[in-house]
Amino acid sequence: MWQSIGHERVQRFLQRAIARGSLGHAVLFAGPESVGKQTLAFDLTAALLCSRQPHDPCWECRDCKGIVRQQHPDFHLVQLEEGRKSIRMDQVAALQRAVSLRPYQAPQRVSLILDAHLLQPEASQRLLKTLEEPPPHNTLILTAASMHLLPQTLLSRCQVLRLTALPRRRVQTALEQRGVPQESAAFLAAASLGRLGWAITASMRPELREQEEALVQALVRTLQADRAARTALVEELLDEVSDVDRLFDLWCEWWRSYLLHQLGVQDGLDGDSSAFGSEVGFDIPLQDVSTAIKRINEAREWIRANVNVRLALETLVLHLPEAS
Ligand SMILES: [Zn+2]
Repeated sequence: MWQSIGHERVQRFLQRAIARGSLGHAVLFAGPESVGKQTLAFDLTAALLCSRQPHDPCWECRDCKGIVRQQHPDFHLVQLEEGRKSIRMDQVAALQRAVSLRPYQAPQRVSLILDAHLLQPEASQRLLKTLEEPPPHNTLILTAASMHLLPQTLLSRCQVLRLTALPRRRVQTALEQRGVPQESAAFLAAASLGRLGWAITASMRPELREQEEALVQALVRTLQADRAARTALVEELLDEVSDVDRLFDLWCEWWRSYLLHQLGVQDGLDGDSSAFGSEVGFDIPLQDVSTAIKRINEAREWIRANVNVRLALETLVLHLPEAS
């Protein structure tokens, strides 16, 4: 059974490719952090090495269990080592030694490189030849946070499969199936921006959820505040926010939810998170909603262009519409 959730189209493509023998020698899963790349990469590894089922992982046989324990003789994992910022050349050299050996237990070898965008440039360069023409009976699987972070030379040697954010309702259902109460699941599904892995991690860390809720609430308080109070709110935000991009993501998601709610479009499930714009008890004209989203993205661009964070936040907060 594949453990991946929500990427059925990619999964079906992989199952068909394995069945037809048309899977590339090198497969790259690209997509945002925590969206499910690693789960799918392990699924594919097990689907290729499982001795009990032809095109799917069973997770019970010696091969599947060996992959989970990272002790399968034909499975080689390359990932960022603790305390390091990049994947080193000698890790790629070790992978190359592994792929040169004949498969020992399964019909082929599988090598998995997690976060390939973290490969040192010379390590990435060294990998090219292996990606281009791996010895027979080898499949290489890579994951990366974005295709744009990888050199074109590496991309061109891989079969690229893009994983996109999941619909909010999909994340919420998956959380509820794991026993997360509905209200929490609704909030986390919205805050996750479609990244189930993030939502699952956050569901196990109540302090993270509280922190995220406070950031969303800061927007609601801003909309209800006058100018003087807004200046004070900026000070609070500067104290509390460590990642302004995340703040802006959450605020944009709030506006999106507010807009959908005003238009009567149901994006979440019953019990949609009230923290995300569905029950705020005030009205904001629809044209102000699009201006607000535009202003948030402007502030984001300014900060990327090295404008002072305080100045960008102050300008944004003072220009957001007032609730009536
Ligand atoms: Zn198996």
